[in-house]
Amino acid sequence: MNKSAKPPRRSAADTALRGEIISTAQRMASSGLTPGKSGNVSARIDNGMLITPTGIPYGEIKPADIVAVRNDGTAMAGQRAPSSEWRFHLAIYKARDDVEAIVHTHSLNATALACIHRTIPAFHYMVAVAGGDRITCAPYATYGTEALAKNVVRALGDRRACLIANHGAIAVGETLRKAYDLAWEVETLSAQYARARQLGRPRLLSAREMNQVLEKFKTYGKQPPVKL
Ligand SMILES: [Zn+2]
Repeated sequence: MNKSAKPPRRSAADTALRGEIISTAQRMASSGLTPGKSGNVSARIDNGMLITPTGIPYGEIKPADIVAVRNDGTAMAGQRAPSSEWRFHLAIYKARDDVEAIVHTHSLNATALACIHRTIPAFHYMVAVAGGDRITCAPYATYGTEALAKNVVRALGDRRACLIANHGAIAVGETLRKAYDLAWEVETLSAQYARARQLGRPRLLSAREMNQVLEKFKTYGKQPPVKL
């Protein structure tokens, strides 16, 4: 991809982006992806990220409550405290230049699989929406720590989603919408995989079969250019 074609990075003062983060978090809560106050949402900005604050119910967050965290891990003075899980968000942005938004959930079925440290294998072709032939599970570390950030970056690799052991799931994307939609795909796949395992041993797709799907997904949903 031509990196120079990317639009300039947005700023910490971008009220529209703050609003998008809030609406994504609220959609996450109302759709059942985040039980209680769990989960968080962030978006990349120039020299850092914007992330949901800790301890404020999603329904009450205002644009000024969204927290800017710089690449060096410092937050600007006079702000709310960022989500306690800001470290793995920042670590992902630093490791992955292609990621612009991150959605983290404790959604029911993904978390259940994460609690048995289960990687989701190629039991269904849609596993490829996460960018590979499996969705791996990052090893456990205490929430909010640098150790967890390292585990998450390693488990994610160059894919777009992973589970976190005894914790939940992460989905990343080029936009908040894509990261949110992928979080739902991961939750749906987790439910399907758990159900399939209850019925028996799922027949896994081969590496060749998954490579064919991954190849097709590169152009999936993209309209051919219209000749005028
Ligand atoms: Zn969490």
